[in-house]
Amino acid sequence: MLINIQNIHIQSVKMLSHQGIQTDMLRLDLIHSVISGNKWFKLKYYLTEALTVNATKLASFGGAYSNHIVALALAGKEAGIPTVGFIRGDADTPLSPTLEEAISYGMELQFISRTAYRDKKQIQDRYHQSGWYWIPEGGYGSLGAKGAADILHLHDTNSYSHILCAVGTGTMMAGLINGANALQEIIGISVLKHHFSITKEIGQLIDLSSGKKPAFQCLHGYDWGGYAKHTPELLSFMRQLWQSEKIPTDFVYTAKLTYAIHDLIEKKFFPTGSRLLLIHSGGLQGNRSLPSHILPF
Ligand SMILES: *Cc1c(COP(=O)(O)O)cnc(C)c1O
Repeated sequence: MLINIQNIHIQSVKMLSHQGIQTDMLRLDLIHSVISGNKWFKLKYYLTEALTVNATKLASFGGAYSNHIVALALAGKEAGIPTVGFIRGDADTPLSPTLEEAISYGMELQFISRTAYRDKKQIQDRYHQSGWYWIPEGGYGSLGAKGAADILHLHDTNSYSHILCAVGTGTMMAGLINGANALQEIIGISVLKHHFSITKEIGQLIDLSSGKKPAFQCLHGYDWGGYAKHTPELLSFMRQLWQSEKIPTDFVYTAKLTYAIHDLIEKKFFPTGSRLLLIHSGGLQGNRSLPSHILPF
């Protein structure tokens, strides 16, 4: 088994523990050096279903630095099902390290122009072959949320007042809402600019059949200009976090989450006595688009 679930542990974060607030981090990033923590969880039940229906191929979508694509490539290899990734962009641009890695796990790639990429349904209709099992981009869907709910049950997380995570498609956050207890509050930091429809998209994945759900909210304004955008200040925060806590983050998701929590604590957003659990959702692929000397990890 290439994935080490038992490496996941809870670490206290000194830099974010002051003013009456205790902050811990759940280190999902430690399950594998390449495979993103949350993507692995989101894929689990899609894989189970694909095996049940004897799928002959797993197909999905993503960009050149997609944590989801590389996680799918490895998951397919482990499950013994061939994979194909529909990649946004042109085939003639040099392959990113992420895509090289996906190929090394046996994934076949099909490049799709940026315009055509917007219509996933059309791509599916055009390329589908019998026996293929399609997984939505980013694992968005109720099976993805079901896998993410398991994240909170790896350790006892019941005593935390707030669970905090980065939000892309919102699948992980929906899973955390489904998996948390009703007294907790789930706070998501959106990494996309002005993505206000996210609350509705998360709402569609909440399992209302299983009792009272915790309160939740998705905060905007911590996107640093938009998806995968960053500034020298964000990178400098990442270096500081590494020096102080030995926690590696990526500028697409977990750095934006951690910075936001730092800022919210400064602004006294959390009541005194709060116990925060940040989800380190893994996914360091985005950093591979930076020159190699920029980050110390
Ligand atoms: C994909 C990803 C997210 C976002 O997860 P969603 O379920 O799409 O909201 C957060 N963090 C990391 C590291 C990711 O790779």
